[in-house]
Amino acid sequence: PQPQQQQSLPAIPQGVSRATFDKAITDLTNQLGPENVELNDKPPKDDGWYMEHPNTHDMMNVTGSDALVASAVVYPSSTAEVQKIVLWANQYRIPIFPISMGRNLGYGGAAPRVRGSVVIDLGKRMNKILDIDPDDHTCLVEPGVSFYALYEAIQAKGYDHLWVDTPDLGGGSVIGNTLDRGVGYTPYGDHWATHSGLEVVLPTGEVLRTGMGALPHSNTSQIFPYGFGPIADGLFSQSNLGIVTQMGMTLMPNPTGHESFLYAFALETDLAQVIDIIRPLRISNILENVAQLRSAVQTIAVQGRPRKDFYDQPGPIPQSIIDAEVSKLPCGKCAWLYYGMAYGPPHIRAYKLAIIDAEFKKVAGARRIDPATIPKDNYFWSRDNIAAGVPDFEELLWCNWVPNGSHIAFSPVSPIRGKDAERLMALAKRRHAESGIDLFPAFCVGLREMHLIVEIVFDKTKPEAREAAMACMRAMVDDAAALGYGEYRTHLALMDQVAGTYSWNDNALMKFNERIKDALDPNGILAPGKSGIWPKRYRGRGWEM
Ligand code: ADP
Repeated sequence: PQPQQQQSLPAIPQGVSRATFDKAITDLTNQLGPENVELNDKPPKDDGWYMEHPNTHDMMNVTGSDALVASAVVYPSSTAEVQKIVLWANQYRIPIFPISMGRNLGYGGAAPRVRGSVVIDLGKRMNKILDIDPDDHTCLVEPGVSFYALYEAIQAKGYDHLWVDTPDLGGGSVIGNTLDRGVGYTPYGDHWATHSGLEVVLPTGEVLRTGMGALPHSNTSQIFPYGFGPIADGLFSQSNLGIVTQMGMTLMPNPTGHESFLYAFALETDLAQVIDIIRPLRISNILENVAQLRSAVQTIAVQGRPRKDFYDQPGPIPQSIIDAEVSKLPCGKCAWLYYGMAYGPPHIRAYKLAIIDAEFKKVAGARRIDPATIPKDNYFWSRDNIAAGVPDFEELLWCNWVPNGSHIAFSPVSPIRGKDAERLMALAKRRHAESGIDLFPAFCVGLREMHLIVEIVFDKTKPEAREAAMACMRAMVDDAAALGYGEYRTHLALMDQVAGTYSWNDNALMKFNERIKDALDPNGILAPGKSGIWPKRYRGRGWEM
């Protein structure tokens, strides 16, 4: 197949005739029932919103084209039906693209990488919590279980001793977020590291279970992730080698007490010192969660007020205006804000908080903001929820910054060192200034590394805004790679570029990925191009973006 764009709907996959496509859809409809196969043959009325998003395309379209749209969406109800769909795709050579709930905002939403793919919306009908084990602190979920649903089920059972870890937006799927290596903000924030056991449908239709789940009568798949022999799980994360239909997940014990804290740092140039203070505290778990050092400008945007309330000119918003607005907020005038949480009973928290206070106060002008002075509608309390495993979606408010606000994220990984933070900030600043875009940086500190997360907010209805966002993203990815920083995750439209930056030793990793892809998916039907991995049938035909 050759790539083509801007055709009429339904977006029939390249290399498949209309007659074959129609026959294939009829065949699939006969297998799954007409209510479970939906043709995408009408232009979307609107893009909905986070909780009612389309499953046919990216509601935050940054390409401006219809390159990333589905031809149809199907709704399996079981692993057996997923197998049927996979066999069907092989028979007709139709690309399929699995989503759990499709709320992967900023990274492509529900959109497939190849135009005309049939999106498999696993979450709609496969949404059961199959197990919550209150003794082992684990659960077993299907793709349609959101962080909200899991949280609510645990509350409904009265399991006060169990905590869920939730990402910034709690409406997404536990499986989808984990497979994409998303993070949350309790000590169990590394979702991939806390999962245990996958059930996977392979591109040729077989089903396997990883880890201890490969044992026929396993009673340990949710408590020991490794099993015996090579660990296969990694092959199914950010990949196009399988469709995950079940996943075990560990749950955190309620620490029996928690307390959010907020520090304000006065100057932009405090960044390096603050980061160097964070490193040893985080590695030794005095700072216990993936905490965030956010630039103060985000505090303005996350109020949900539009940019034009503050500044109505093109080009980045001037620093003097940011300073004046931040001064009006509970944090007072500052450049950076550190949002953290201490866990455990009061005496344990007091011990850790005293160390943190002494360390942060080494920065001239650092202030601890007393939570009692922060109004209940302030974003601080949204972070407080999230760090305590209570799902929330306040974070989305900064999309109101511009009309029709959409976002796309630049997320390079770096050491937790002041000089790295400064380098990344400098390159982001330069590229944002060139593109006339406001810079919203936040450093999310993992355990031994941090991600800089820069969210570009753009008006998706304006071609010049989309193009500026993409140009800025592409430039930052290349600049970062030249300095040795790589993205931990990216939008569909940037996957080829980002994959290309992981090129050590003559692209050895990509060659390896392609060999596995061709072995497991000989017809190249499963999510072609995902993570920059193209099956043989597509390679060298101009599909890369
Ligand atoms: P969420 O449900 O959290 O909104 P998505 O459904 O948008 O997440 O999925 C995020 C990414 O992970 C997508 O690129 C998607 O292709 C992939 N993915 C999601 N669920 C599965 C699954 N069950 N099996 C394989 N890949 C998946």
